[in-house]
Amino acid sequence: MLPLFILYPFHIKIGGMKTLIIAEKPSVGRELARVLGCKKSSKSHIEGDKYIVTWAMGHLVELADPGAHDPKFKQWNAEDLPIIPERMKHRVIGRTSRQFSMIKSLMHRKEVNNLIIATDAGREGELVARWVMRLGGYKGPFQRLWISSQTDKAIREGFAALKNGRDYDNLMRAAECRAEADWLIGLNVTRALSCTYDTRLSAGRVQTPSLAMIQDRDEQIRNFKPKPYQLLEADFGGFSASWRGKSGGRIFSGKASAELTSKLENTEAEVVNISEKKQSVPPPLAYDLTALQQDANRALGYSAKQTLKILQGLYERHKIVTYPRTDSRHLTADIEPTIKDRLKALYATDWRVRAEEIQKSSLKPGKRLFDDSRVSDHHAIIPTEETVKPERLSAEEKALWNMIVKRFLAVLSPPHCYVKRSAELRAEGESFFVSSSRVTDEGWRNIEFIAVENGENERSGSGKIDNLKKGQKYKIESTRLQQKQTTPPGHHTEASLLALMEKNNLGTPATRADIIEKLLSNRYMERSGSALKLTPAGEEVLLLVPEQLKSAELTAEWEKRLSRIAEGKEKAGVFSSDIRKNTGELVAAVKSGGKDYKPVEFSKKPCPLCGRMMMPTKDRRGRELYVCRSLSCGYEEEPENRGGYRKPSPKERAVTRKLIKQYSDDSSDTFTLADMINMKTPGKK
Ligand SMILES: [Zn+2]
Repeated sequence: MLPLFILYPFHIKIGGMKTLIIAEKPSVGRELARVLGCKKSSKSHIEGDKYIVTWAMGHLVELADPGAHDPKFKQWNAEDLPIIPERMKHRVIGRTSRQFSMIKSLMHRKEVNNLIIATDAGREGELVARWVMRLGGYKGPFQRLWISSQTDKAIREGFAALKNGRDYDNLMRAAECRAEADWLIGLNVTRALSCTYDTRLSAGRVQTPSLAMIQDRDEQIRNFKPKPYQLLEADFGGFSASWRGKSGGRIFSGKASAELTSKLENTEAEVVNISEKKQSVPPPLAYDLTALQQDANRALGYSAKQTLKILQGLYERHKIVTYPRTDSRHLTADIEPTIKDRLKALYATDWRVRAEEIQKSSLKPGKRLFDDSRVSDHHAIIPTEETVKPERLSAEEKALWNMIVKRFLAVLSPPHCYVKRSAELRAEGESFFVSSSRVTDEGWRNIEFIAVENGENERSGSGKIDNLKKGQKYKIESTRLQQKQTTPPGHHTEASLLALMEKNNLGTPATRADIIEKLLSNRYMERSGSALKLTPAGEEVLLLVPEQLKSAELTAEWEKRLSRIAEGKEKAGVFSSDIRKNTGELVAAVKSGGKDYKPVEFSKKPCPLCGRMMMPTKDRRGRELYVCRSLSCGYEEEPENRGGYRKPSPKERAVTRKLIKQYSDDSSDTFTLADMINMKTPGKK
């Protein structure tokens, strides 16, 4: 046998140089490896002749806790605030550190001379890879795989058209600015509040304004006073028409309606206006994530998070829909030639007939669907060219996939057309209106039924008016008053909150579901059926946070600036220094706020150490436990298996208290207090 040192140079020559590919997570990594023909599989990576495919598991690196910047910051002290590190430190996340080490060692393998970032094609995905590269000390060249579908075809095409990695530097800067802003504001305001009021409280850049929206709506409902009103309808024999005054059809005074009724008694009305209009209603827009989450919430009762999770499976595992985390409702022009294959992929499903109809039609949806200027990172969510095998989908997956297909077919269908005929009649100077509509072409509504403004929603008289002619006179046979009252707006649902968050630029499509879950798990709001309602704890934290942090406009302004950084239109440094200044202002506002308030009591169970009422909560494993809300006390009690509560021994109490003092440094996974005031960047997955 030859000594190893002689074999070594040959080995390099035969093996050649290799490119390291970093995917977002294991499942995606395995797919990339399969398409690239890498076969040698291990726990942390899959290797082929040219490529080594490895993966992150969402973020492997995060901004380090305050304690890593200065040990004294491990304690929560009001005097130390604001904590504004000049340079943010990073740390490898404990529970996935093994994978990080593996990637690092792969980066430094001799034959690795190139790297491809293949994480999610978006702001957060970019950061996942860049932070791993930075902490792993990778200095070589790198490219970017930027794809919107997980099909073999899309992966192959993506690798054939790799982008220069440096083209995404601005996106990475925007992602870093976002992470820093969340860290600085969330952590400082959370600590400032908790220290000032000696109560565990949590606030954040996106969660607090979102919570304020729930409060606004709850207040509108609470302060709402229903007002009675009446609607007047006149019967003309074959048809009836609705009275309408200068400011609409609602009559708020009983006296006015009585006068009107008696004035119209035994009178005749003349048709003064008659019109017929052809109406054409274009199909709705294709789905982006938020619109799909809203519709799935309304139609299927899914939470935003649930929808994203199911969607992720349709995208990654089944490969039958395109990239989910998108905020675009349009497609790029280069998708147009692929529509045929996407329709064909539906032939094995219940949608065959519709898909074939559209295939045969010569309809061109044009700019309403294909508009490059309205697609930034990813186009709208549509089916891929992958043949669908409906029997492989779970009931939930099938329901969501059906919504996406339905919308996809609708956007490719002709407009819904109808003829609206309206008439105005006048008697004693009062006007009456009646309209009817006749559908001439159902169009896209054959596929997806959405009510359109053709008289289905808005009642305006009824009956046959086809023969009505201008100048004709009709006797008012009778009048009818309908008793109504104004109704308050409904409570927010996930669907309406998502819509409002989107409208106000709060968070991103990828993070909104997590923010909602966080507010729920912090017990700041609660679900009641599909309604979201503020809890006393939510009310409490909103009372104590600075007014400025509740403002959606301000947060939206920051979010707009992040987009500008990603587009290279604003310098990251300017944003960073502004957000630092803002952090200082917010902390000062909390400290000087000194509001006189009585903490919410969550139970009648007093803390054995300080006497304050404890709060029931759950730890990460879903076990119930009671915690003391006092920051300086921090006592917590775990339930016994038998269901009762065990009192810890004095020694255990001492240990608990010591732990609690360090709970800002939540390196331990089982830690429960940090969960409760978890001010960390919401995880991606
Ligand atoms: Zn206590």
